[in-house]
Amino acid sequence: MFGQMQKQALLISNLIKHADKYHGTTTIASVETSGGMVYKTWADVAKRARQLASALEGLGLQNSTCCGTLAWNNHRHLEIYFGVSGGGNICHTINPRLFPAQLSYIINHAQDKILFFDKTFLPLVLALKDQLKTVEHYVLLSPPDAEASAQFPELKFYEDVIAQGNADYEWPEFDEETASSLCYTSGTTGDPKGVLYSHRSTLLHSYAIAMPDSMCLSARDKIMPVVPMFHVNAWGVPYGAAMVGASLVLPGPGLDGESLRKLIDQEQVSLALGVPTIWQGLLQALEKSGSTKTSLKRTIIGGAACPPSMIATFRDRYGVEIIHAWGMTELSPIGSVNNLLKKHDALPLEQQWAIRNHQGRPPFGVELRIVDDENKVLPDDGKAQGNLQARGYWVVDTYFKKENTALEDGWFATGDVATIDPDGYMTIRDRSKDIIKSGGEWISTVELENIAVAHPDVLGAAAIAAKHPKWDERPLLIVVKREGREVSEASILSFYEGKIAKWQIPDRVIFVDSLPLNATGKLMKNKLREEYGNYLLSDS
Ligand code: ADP
Repeated sequence: MFGQMQKQALLISNLIKHADKYHGTTTIASVETSGGMVYKTWADVAKRARQLASALEGLGLQNSTCCGTLAWNNHRHLEIYFGVSGGGNICHTINPRLFPAQLSYIINHAQDKILFFDKTFLPLVLALKDQLKTVEHYVLLSPPDAEASAQFPELKFYEDVIAQGNADYEWPEFDEETASSLCYTSGTTGDPKGVLYSHRSTLLHSYAIAMPDSMCLSARDKIMPVVPMFHVNAWGVPYGAAMVGASLVLPGPGLDGESLRKLIDQEQVSLALGVPTIWQGLLQALEKSGSTKTSLKRTIIGGAACPPSMIATFRDRYGVEIIHAWGMTELSPIGSVNNLLKKHDALPLEQQWAIRNHQGRPPFGVELRIVDDENKVLPDDGKAQGNLQARGYWVVDTYFKKENTALEDGWFATGDVATIDPDGYMTIRDRSKDIIKSGGEWISTVELENIAVAHPDVLGAAAIAAKHPKWDERPLLIVVKREGREVSEASILSFYEGKIAKWQIPDRVIFVDSLPLNATGKLMKNKLREEYGNYLLSDS
């Protein structure tokens, strides 16, 4: 009676089919785990993904079987993304930087039947193997390797496995709500929790990241995801790149500043993505090289607050636009991306730049709000500060294998404290467990760190809440000096004057050689609190 549009499931296999057909000759450059470059195309990746899907079927792995990966960003890992999910199995990316006990917990909890891994992780897998209860196939991501076989006789090799697969394999059709991939949060407290993405959530997220006011991915881009493919699906970039047919540069294991600088230069990368600590390394390498030229046009930074001084250095010294983004594992991960609105063109540059320091606005498909401790919604006035909540097409409802929803009133509590301005620009003030509560007032550790790292002699800084007999908590700043620089506590403390209220200035500064980072390159403030939390008690 009425007209009707076609109903086609939103499936990951359709992404790789599209990339194959319309962008088949576009290059995927990949750094091998053993060193050296390999150049593939989207057509190669598509063919090898079909072979893999078919080979997995041959091994009896089908119908949402979890397939684990312990791998760098490389072309084989990319093929696994499409081959495993496209064939109806679940691509379970595992963060190799987690503690061994967490790794075995995760693999057993997911009940992975196969484990793909790069040679870097051979010793790790050998050490873990006896605790892994469900893994039936161990597959090294390489051609046959006699040295590895000698250490691990039952080991299979990826190139042998896919050689058994049919290159004309037909991707199966199934419900778009079928699980496609699985990622566990870092789990700073308690066991890591799994977030199970679906084909539908992944495709909608891919559209969202590709949009112009979001990450603006294009077939004209050469994209380098430095953010690992084992951390929230490299922010969805492998899927988004297939959707738009972008060229990819996959950096393999060499994530130090100098290796990235050379790779960007050699491959003429136009867009790169990663956490601030990675870009701090790149900036140091660029500075050392003395060159101010780079092919990079844009860099997307998220995962932790990007200091305004870093945004300014990229912009002023290298002409690179920094796009600040915020997200989390539970949001696939994109929750907000910072781009300017048309009306901002009329503002003086300094004011435009100030807007770009925020964590940005949500793309269509995710909504953000802030609430107080009683769950009362607070105004988006840029001043009220509250607990950030999210809901949308690609936001978690229930953690993997948990009975109860993680939502309250239909919204997911992010654990972050934020403000939202009337234009929807959200600013992360802190994680609620990190914020400093000094005499009933809140002090943002993010703001204290942003100022500290703008000091010319400071390489890195962490602000933590230290117990205080009078104020409950007071800020303590832990600083790593730049190589070859000398700087005093007084010089750092005076650097805060005029930038924030006097009572927010840290009480003391401690100098250390390095700051503890977690498995995803973020500051481990809980560790610092354990070590220095009583510092002001003994000090005062
Ligand atoms: P984990 O596995 O450590 O939870 P996630 O990547 O899921 O890793 O971490 C999400 C958290 O990272 C957010 O809740 C927020 O605290 C922090 N985060 C992410 N992006 C930003 C950003 N741009 N600014 C400040 N904090 C951020």
